[in-house]
Amino acid sequence: MSLLEISGLESFYGASQALFGVNLRVAEGEVVALMGRNGMGKTTTIGSVIGLVRPRNGAIRLSGKDVAGMQPHRIARLGVGLVPEGRRCFPNLTVHENLVAAARPGVWTLARINELFPRLEERRDQYANTLSGGEQQMLAVSRALMTNPKLLILDEATEGLAPVIRQDIWAAIRRLKAEGQSILVVDKTLSELLPVADRCFVLEKGRTVFSGRPNELTADLQDRYLGV
Ligand code: ATP
Repeated sequence: MSLLEISGLESFYGASQALFGVNLRVAEGEVVALMGRNGMGKTTTIGSVIGLVRPRNGAIRLSGKDVAGMQPHRIARLGVGLVPEGRRCFPNLTVHENLVAAARPGVWTLARINELFPRLEERRDQYANTLSGGEQQMLAVSRALMTNPKLLILDEATEGLAPVIRQDIWAAIRRLKAEGQSILVVDKTLSELLPVADRCFVLEKGRTVFSGRPNELTADLQDRYLGV
């Protein structure tokens, strides 16, 4: 059984349809890349999974349980942790407070977070709004991990970050993958995203138009669906 299985998903913003048939699957322990040009439906797909966008048709199953249309807090409790686009840490809480506020019982503890991102331990008592973009992203990832999610979702994992810091984020994702964490990730830098992905899904105008291994995503397909 897949950890996450989306089939035939159609979602709307009011009367305006954004998704027309998204199919996607994340197996246990897999890193899955969700790809597509701007406005093709990646964030809407994620929003549908976490309960922020109400799906009208299709199924979203988490460990076999249909979660389509469920309240966001209930879906979160079933084991979905989100690192949202733009990070959105609590600006007026310290690093420590941000982490503690998110904590739910499980294998992820402050000690383990400190080991994953030693930088955050150094910044423990700093307010989140005083952190660099990279540090805020580390905090956003850590905060999601502190909820001990079965599925970690990163929307625009490295957007706006300097190349060196981006490598820190990818290194963390690789390490999480090695530890068996299931991950769904969106990122614009294909050359960095594809090597960490076990499988990828490409959206075009709200539909899944490709799914397969990264090495099956040929230059032709990349040109057709992901070129600028
Ligand atoms: P990006 O990389 O730019 O974030 P995306 O692939 O995540 O793009 P979505 O943000 O999911 O794409 O957008 C899918 C479609 O839904 C687009 O046509 C977009 O204009 C529309 N859309 C997104 N958010 C809203 C909203 N809040 N209200 C109405 N339409 C929206």
